[in-house]
Amino acid sequence: MAKQETRGRKALPENKRKPPQATVKINSIILPFVIQLKGSLKKGSLSPDILQNLFNVLNGKSIANNASLKQVQKYDDEHRKAVSLESETRLLKSEIRSLEARYEQLKHKEHDCQVLIKTGARCTKPAKLKASWQGIELNVCTQHFKTVSNQQKNN
Ligand SMILES: [Zn+2]
Repeated sequence: MAKQETRGRKALPENKRKPPQATVKINSIILPFVIQLKGSLKKGSLSPDILQNLFNVLNGKSIANNASLKQVQKYDDEHRKAVSLESETRLLKSEIRSLEARYEQLKHKEHDCQVLIKTGARCTKPAKLKASWQGIELNVCTQHFKTVSNQQKNN
């Protein structure tokens, strides 16, 4: 009868034996990573995606994960908002321009000669003088100043 082996750990029963595991010596620099990896594995948080990303980093490839994808989407959203604000600004600017033009038109009308010409439309010459007509002060151009003054005298 052979001498029984008594060194080392007592062997587990057949049905409780773990599958064979590799034993490696680890440099102290990478030990913290291995410890964290083992912890994550135990917690079940070491997904194939994470493993793949880790290998990608080690191989010098970029990580395309959800976080950076979300950043890109966020940037796109902000960019879209900015573009729509720009077009809104352009719209408002053109509205301001048209209002300014209308204002100039009205201001001009106020300072134009107020006398009606033969066609019934208003004289479009600038009113440089003021004439008194039936107790009312009128803005008139130099040409119509005489007409209004003469009418006033004849009344
Ligand atoms: Zn006039």
